[in-house]
Amino acid sequence: MDLLSMVGMATKRRSDYFSQARTLAQKYKEQPRLEERMRAESTGLVKGLRDKLMRWEEYERTMLDKVLTSALAACILGIKDNKSNQKLEKCWPIIVGDMLPPLTKFLAETKEYIDSGVLRLGDQTVDFADYNLLGAVPEAIDLDADVLEGVNPEEEGIQEAAQRRAQGRSWPALAERVSRYLATPTFSFYNLGEYLVAQDMGYKEMRRVAKQDKKVCLDCKNYGEQGWAPIGELPMPGKGCRCYDRCRCFIEYR
Ligand SMILES: [Zn+2]
Ligand SMILES: [Zn+2]
Repeated sequence: MDLLSMVGMATKRRSDYFSQARTLAQKYKEQPRLEERMRAESTGLVKGLRDKLMRWEEYERTMLDKVLTSALAACILGIKDNKSNQKLEKCWPIIVGDMLPPLTKFLAETKEYIDSGVLRLGDQTVDFADYNLLGAVPEAIDLDADVLEGVNPEEEGIQEAAQRRAQGRSWPALAERVSRYLATPTFSFYNLGEYLVAQDMGYKEMRRVAKQDKKVCLDCKNYGEQGWAPIGELPMPGKGCRCYDRCRCFIEYR
């Protein structure tokens, strides 16, 4: 599916996504729990594709649905008001613009892997459970968050292919990458929701607070040292930093 069809499909199903996202937000209540849930779903989805429980078209559509609903749900959790349609409307174009271009590329690449036999459908030689993907705890995601400098989900795939790493651990590696679309971005979108609230409440300044450990990436460290800035001048966590979706900086307002 090309980007234009993807955007068209998303636009058509927009109101469904909004109501599904509300249900998700109500169910999981906190961003780390939502993230954990979406990690589990990433594995489930990839397993379903591998085990031929779903056709490619269905996989592609499900990815699109889940990427959008989990991002919207994260925004709702940040907004903390399930009925604030106005703020959620502001999130929608940002989510679509951020997520759909890389998702389109990622899906095309996965399809290529399948067509060329790098990923073999029905291949049961690898047990997902061995990779500790299921039941991942939110704290565990945090551990090496800022260590992986300069690797966004797209680059990771290219590197993996070049190093032929996809050979040995192909399907679990795919599940990891899927979670970088479904699960880890929820942190940034949660912050986007909070940002809209802070703006509404009349806060004038913001600052990004980086984790105070030696693993923090250079960009996040710099933002942290920059201190207070006028509201709207600093990017959300995961944007403008080389730890991307794995960034776990938080934002304060005053
Ligand atoms: Zn960083
Ligand atoms: Zn960060």
